[in-house]
Amino acid sequence: MHKTVQILGKTFGLTFTPEAIARRVQDMAGRISRDLREKDPLFLGVLNGSFVFVADLLRSLDFPAQVSFVKMASYEGTSSTGMVRELIGLSEKIEGRCVVVVEDIIDSGLTMSRLLGLLQEYRPSEVHVAVLFLKPDNLKAASLPIDYALFRIPNDFIVGYGLDYEGYGRNLPGIYTLIQNELK
Ligand code: 5GP
Ligand code: MG
Repeated sequence: MHKTVQILGKTFGLTFTPEAIARRVQDMAGRISRDLREKDPLFLGVLNGSFVFVADLLRSLDFPAQVSFVKMASYEGTSSTGMVRELIGLSEKIEGRCVVVVEDIIDSGLTMSRLLGLLQEYRPSEVHVAVLFLKPDNLKAASLPIDYALFRIPNDFIVGYGLDYEGYGRNLPGIYTLIQNELK
């Protein structure tokens, strides 16, 4: 296991080992199994960042579950609408279902807030959020239903276990943090 990695000239230091992550994922899967198995929840992974977490979390549940993936697409609308954000890839029937949104990281919470707003249009019976990382100091969106969070972290930039820096590093099995005051 490398203690540091280089991505595009920046140095990142190991913060959470694969073993530490795996233990937490097991704990979370146990809690979700106890809380929700009777509700036949539909797990909705948010691409791209959640793909590793979803794979591990879902295999640690103790019941057969359904999983699907969505993506938030952003594009420029007309000048009056500004930036348009759309939920794509949703093919399952959501109406009346218990949905667990699985996301990599919640920073300001604005992305999740928008996603949950769009999801409500499909009329789920209840929505829970399972997230790998929460940056509580940055959270601006109020009252997000974050029932399950693996780690609470400071306002640092992290990569690995699905998270990227400029598209790189999603495949790292541990979590690495950008070393800020690195001497050049
Ligand atoms: P929010 O809307 O909550 O401010 O931002 C959430 C999104 O910002 C995440 O889905 C992720 O794409 C990106 N993000 C926020 N913090 C980090 C970080 O530390 N590392 C990486 N790789 N992405 C981050
Ligand atoms: Mg994301």
